[in-house]
Amino acid sequence: MYIVEYTYIMPSRKPPLSELQQLFLEQVARLWPALKGSLAEVRKPCIRPNCPACKKGDKHPAFILSFTQEGRRRCMYVSAEMVPILRQGLENGRRLETLLCELGPALLREHRQQRERKSEI
Ligand SMILES: [Zn+2]
Repeated sequence: MYIVEYTYIMPSRKPPLSELQQLFLEQVARLWPALKGSLAEVRKPCIRPNCPACKKGDKHPAFILSFTQEGRRRCMYVSAEMVPILRQGLENGRRLETLLCELGPALLREHRQQRERKSEI
């Protein structure tokens, strides 16, 4: 007696990515890191007793990232080595927003072109 086993492989039915979607994914991948907020340089006092810089009123330079979370303005201190990374993130965040603004009309144009192509057949 032979037991025949059928292995049924489900065909993958993912629709091919549209040109626009492919372009979007490529652009987004290049925009890492991306963030929204603002970076400000401030001067803050330290906790050392009798610190000459604080005594003179110079204090110490520090960076603060401000951002909105659940509708509330919040901020965090930023270490010096993170400053260039966050600057890049802010710049990329602006590019990402521009990209999102362009996507609405681009989607509509793509849809219109596909409809015209179908009606030509
Ligand atoms: Zn100090």
